[in-house]
Amino acid sequence: MTTALIYDPIFLEHLTPPKHPERPQRLEMAIKVLEALDWLQRDGLVQIPPREATEDELAAVHDRAYIRQIKEVAEEVAREAQQGGRKTRFFATDTYISAQSYAAAIKAAGAPLTAIDAIMSGEVDNAYCLVRPPGHHALPDEAMGFCLFNNVAVAAQYALDRHGLERVMIIDYDVHHGNGTQDIFYTDPRVLYFSVHQAPFYPGTGHSDERGEGAGLGTTINVPLPATVGYEVYEPVFRQVMAHAADRFDPQLILVSAGFDAHWNDPLGQMNLSTAGFAQLTKIIIDLAQTLCNGRLVMVQEGGYNLDVMGSAVATCINLLLGDDAAVDSLGAGPDAEKEFHLNAEVLVAELRRIHKLTGYRLRNAPKPDIERLRREMKGPQA
Ligand SMILES: [Zn+2]
Repeated sequence: MTTALIYDPIFLEHLTPPKHPERPQRLEMAIKVLEALDWLQRDGLVQIPPREATEDELAAVHDRAYIRQIKEVAEEVAREAQQGGRKTRFFATDTYISAQSYAAAIKAAGAPLTAIDAIMSGEVDNAYCLVRPPGHHALPDEAMGFCLFNNVAVAAQYALDRHGLERVMIIDYDVHHGNGTQDIFYTDPRVLYFSVHQAPFYPGTGHSDERGEGAGLGTTINVPLPATVGYEVYEPVFRQVMAHAADRFDPQLILVSAGFDAHWNDPLGQMNLSTAGFAQLTKIIIDLAQTLCNGRLVMVQEGGYNLDVMGSAVATCINLLLGDDAAVDSLGAGPDAEKEFHLNAEVLVAELRRIHKLTGYRLRNAPKPDIERLRREMKGPQA
């Protein structure tokens, strides 16, 4: 496997106020761990600097006035900062702009475009975009939840418009619902948006009856989960809902909104996944991409606010993309790993399969599941 790591130090220059969870150290830590493991020089890993997304590419999902507003505010903050003013300006709920925020944001949106070009030209098999600011809350004309431009949505639209793809799937396992991504493609049947998230939780959207509208009815799939659930629920949801919906949709490219804030030790999320659990879920996605779309897969960084988790989860995902199975899990399983949960995963899965008309649907393309292996995996990561 050849994997592109798409990263630029400009991402560290998008500043937020002290104690803000979405801070440059998140990516610094990921790079530090990759360096410590000596994985940046690994065979098969290609570092590609991201290009900037053009205004036209951004405008395929965002309003032009909004794009220019972000640029202008960043320029104003730069001028003020030069005169000794504040380095960051409050822009929208939880979302700040600093002098270099626009420069960082257009490269964060450009990173998955660089990835898609490299994959479609055969230069690499898959890619990890280590970017910030994150994107999945950003609406066409509104910043929110730490996000300025919707990186993954810009990428999906680009794959449709510039590479002529007809079906793109976005899998979002960030602990928050990607309301912006859902909104942008709500009526578009060419993009299947699948989100699993904590609920009730920020931003308040993502109910299971939000399924798309008009021509897009059925291409939005939401799996709201109560706080504290972990791999024992995520795994059947991934294997029996996400994978089957993906198989039916038959994507030509899979994008992942890779947020690690559903980790048990995340300061914002209250879920119970371990890094090994994230690894298993990511492996399911990688196998699916192999089966359905030649392995074409782009992971795009969203949340994840525990620095140790950021380091280990990013390294783990890159390891998996390169075709290795091992997870780098410094923190291990959560303290509640052995707890009995009141949520019955079987009932939940059956209900989701009913809502999304998957009842009776069998995977067309996937090999028969190895039940013994599944059992081992279900025990493995949380044991
Ligand atoms: Zn999040």
